[in-house]
Amino acid sequence: MNKTWKRNNKGRLEKIETTICCIENNHEFYKYHLFNNKCSKCHLKTLSETETEKFMKNHATHHWKYERYLKKDLHWYTTDLQVSDNNGFIKLLTYMLNTTDDLFHNQNHMNNILKLLYTCNYEFKGLTSKQATNIYNDWKNKHTEGLSNVTKNKLLICLQHFLAGLVIDWWNITNELGGVAYCYYANWGKVPLLFDNNHEKNPIQKPIFEYINSPNNTDEKSRFNSWIRNGTTFVHIPIIS
Ligand SMILES: [Zn+2]
Repeated sequence: MNKTWKRNNKGRLEKIETTICCIENNHEFYKYHLFNNKCSKCHLKTLSETETEKFMKNHATHHWKYERYLKKDLHWYTTDLQVSDNNGFIKLLTYMLNTTDDLFHNQNHMNNILKLLYTCNYEFKGLTSKQATNIYNDWKNKHTEGLSNVTKNKLLICLQHFLAGLVIDWWNITNELGGVAYCYYANWGKVPLLFDNNHEKNPIQKPIFEYINSPNNTDEKSRFNSWIRNGTTFVHIPIIS
C-alpha cells in the first residue's frame, strides 16, 4: 500500500491509501475508488463519449476543454446549410462524375468544378455526409464493375477524398463513405470541440473546398491543395454509359 494525494469529488486534495494500477514511462499510476478502482487514464478508456463528458465535468478543472457542440446545435447547423438533392450544383456534380471519363485524371476538372461553384451557385454550402455517401455508393455501383482491384481502389480513394472535402457535417462521415474519408476528414467521428484553448467559442471547421477562399491562411491553403492533389489520380476511368 502507498499513500498519495488525490482530488476528491468536491475538488479538495486528500491523502489516500492506494495501490498501483499501471506504470508508464517510469511513472506510477494509482488505483482510486472514484475511478472505478483504476487510474484515471485506464478508467477513461472504459467510458463512452457522454460518460467521459460527465466525468470531465466533475473531476477536471479544465473540463471546458473537452466540451463538444451539442447535437441540437449541430443539427441546426447542418439543416440550415443543407441544400436539396435537386439543387442544380448537386445534379451537375453527379452528372459530371458519371459522364466525364477523366474527372480524376486532370486537376483542371476539379478546379473547374470549384469555379462553377463560385460563379454559378452561391447557394451551395457543401454536401451533407449522407448526400456524399449516396453519390459515392451510386458511382461505385455504376462504374467499378470489371476494373482490377488496384484501379478500383485508386479511383474510390480519389472519390472519397473529393467528396469528403465537400462535406459540411464532416463529423458524421462514417466508413460507408470509405475508410480514407473516415480517417482523414471525420476526426474519427468526434463532434467539434466547443471552445478553443483560450476558452473562446470555437467556430465549426468548414468543409475543405471552402478554403479556396483563404489564400492568406497557410494551414487552410495547404489543406486545400492536398485535397485537390489527393482527389486527382492519373488513372483513366473507363466510363460505361
Ligand atoms: Zn492504469
